[in-house]
Amino acid sequence: MSVQERAADLRARLEEANVRYYVLDAPTIADAEYDAMLRELAELEAAHPELRTADSPTQRVGAAASAHFAPYEHRAPMLSLANAFDESEMRAFDERVRKLAEAAVAYVCELKIDGLAVSLSYRTGAFERGGTRGDGRVGEDVTPNLRTIKTIPLRLKGGAAPQLEVRGEAYLRKSDFARLNEEREGAGLPAFANPRNAASGGLRQLDPNMTAQRRLSFFAYSAIPSPATQWQALKDLGAMGFHVNPNVARRETIDEVVAYCREWEERRDELDYEIDGVVVKVDDLALQERLGTVARDPRWAIAFKFKPREARTKLKEIAINVGRTGTLNPYAILEPVRVGGVTIQNATLHNEDYIAHNDIRVGDTVLVTRAGDVIPRVVRPIVEERTGKERAFHMPTRCPVCGADAFRPEGEAMWRCTNAACPAQVYERVRHFATRGAMDVEGLGDVMAGELTALGVVKEISDVYALDRTALARVPRTGEKSIAKLLDAIERSKSRGLARLLVGLGIRFVGEQTAQILADDFGSIDALENASEEELQRSTGIGPELAKSVALFFKQKANRAMIERLRKAGVVMTAPKRVRALEGALTGKTFVLTGALPNLTREAATTMIEAAGGRVTASVSKKTDYVVAGDEPGSKLAKAERLGVAVIDEDGLRNLVG
Ligand code: NAD
Repeated sequence: MSVQERAADLRARLEEANVRYYVLDAPTIADAEYDAMLRELAELEAAHPELRTADSPTQRVGAAASAHFAPYEHRAPMLSLANAFDESEMRAFDERVRKLAEAAVAYVCELKIDGLAVSLSYRTGAFERGGTRGDGRVGEDVTPNLRTIKTIPLRLKGGAAPQLEVRGEAYLRKSDFARLNEEREGAGLPAFANPRNAASGGLRQLDPNMTAQRRLSFFAYSAIPSPATQWQALKDLGAMGFHVNPNVARRETIDEVVAYCREWEERRDELDYEIDGVVVKVDDLALQERLGTVARDPRWAIAFKFKPREARTKLKEIAINVGRTGTLNPYAILEPVRVGGVTIQNATLHNEDYIAHNDIRVGDTVLVTRAGDVIPRVVRPIVEERTGKERAFHMPTRCPVCGADAFRPEGEAMWRCTNAACPAQVYERVRHFATRGAMDVEGLGDVMAGELTALGVVKEISDVYALDRTALARVPRTGEKSIAKLLDAIERSKSRGLARLLVGLGIRFVGEQTAQILADDFGSIDALENASEEELQRSTGIGPELAKSVALFFKQKANRAMIERLRKAGVVMTAPKRVRALEGALTGKTFVLTGALPNLTREAATTMIEAAGGRVTASVSKKTDYVVAGDEPGSKLAKAERLGVAVIDEDGLRNLVG
């Protein structure tokens, strides 16, 4: 392919991607792929200026506004941002800026919210109209829709300028996104790929009621006219009543800027909204003006892009994993692909309806993502890439593990295996029982649980406590030492207490939080066995579905018999009754955990802190109140010491909780 042909090809593909992304809210390529193509085109055009056309995607912002809306002309163009994909590109940006400034430069660092940019127009403090970015010059007038966003003030506080334009990001919280997709799945509609698409589609509805239902939010980040610094602009916006992102920071050196970018790449999952990078802006407005813009990007700002969490790959096969409650969970076997720094080979397909609604077929090229959730997910097929050889998928009517009949209960999304003794179910139950958040039996991991259930030595979780040397010696490649260690771990697991036992039993919907509530309120397994649904529901946070599930579990004879066997084996089935308070001893305090605590798993420590009103975060900052350190603490301990954050051990934590 000649250089001309390659440039034309890239232009065509980028234009098509723009329409799908900005106009239809349904991208079919990953952002990273788009960025790579755009970069290649820019490099070609730089080397061969004659190839550059005025309408090249390297010269234009976004895509033309949809004709469904009245045009919204921007007073000053709404630009895009140049990207930096690594630290060296950040430093190169800083060098360019400092060369022109001939002095030290301060930057404002802002999280790059993954939503869509909007512009709001205020006259003497009253919201007048607003629009989307569109092609940067003309956007779509979506005023009635913007009025439904609660975080957009309709009247500004204080004495506002007679004419004020405020720009910011309209976005959807992860929690609202999850709820929206749940509702859509319930109504038989296809799920949205990510919060950005859902937000963009939501704002560009023809009926404002539809926008209101999406519950969009808004962060403001710039004002025209602007005060003398970006930092002051953010302060003013906050004073006027806008939501300004609380994590913005002013930094004096590029080293500090890079540290900020790194920190947020690590902490992005702590936020209830998606971010895809950090926007770094020159603080001083006069310097911004001197730096000016090139083509579509200002020279005074740059977007540091995080590692992509979306990729495209081939779906080789659809397989079924049988869960511990007998659900048949379909998942995709993929051609290995790197997503957000890890290689993935499998991704969930949720259930039969998800596959059907999204028309996902075996052999398809698919878009996979690790956005927000840790479990990779197949988003959708790239229909354009089909060759005709792809096969539609049908759920098996028999359990792929034990061959028993499978069926889909009315009103449920999942197929189920009918055989409670199915080895796959036993395996999953045993494995779950032994996990850290449950009975924490060290040495009884995936492999050992697999061996024991395959040998038929363990047919039910209570069989774990009947294991002895002879039985364990039958497991291939298991020596005396590991047998002794495992028997010891099994013995110790007996005293984990009621809450952990409830987690281990694998009752539907009962996670660590719920188990703790039930243990606190009922105090013993006997009290729980005898509790009615109504009594269960009197516990805070226990809804009707949960109460039903717990009652159903204890009603079943087989489960009661198993609990008796556990009791005979010496498993502790009580817990001190406790009175829980939402406002607790640790209200308002932030904790970071590092290293292994002697008697608490990370999950249990988290539950303990949260039950007392505290919060656990992933990394240490000046705002952290306590670092709880155990054996072999990581770099977090060093950081805590450097920042002067209090460091305590497990006993210290217990004292604080009281
Ligand atoms: P950009 O990512 O280059 O950055 C500009 C945008 O950042 C602004 O318009 C604003 O919406 C947003 N932003 C968030 N927080 C901000 C803050 N604090 N300050 C300033 N701006 C902030 O945006 P762009 O020009 O819309 O898009 C280009 C990007 O979009 C590409 O890099 C690509 O990742 C993605 N894209 C993907 C496809 C696809 O098909 N997958 C197609 C087109 C674009």
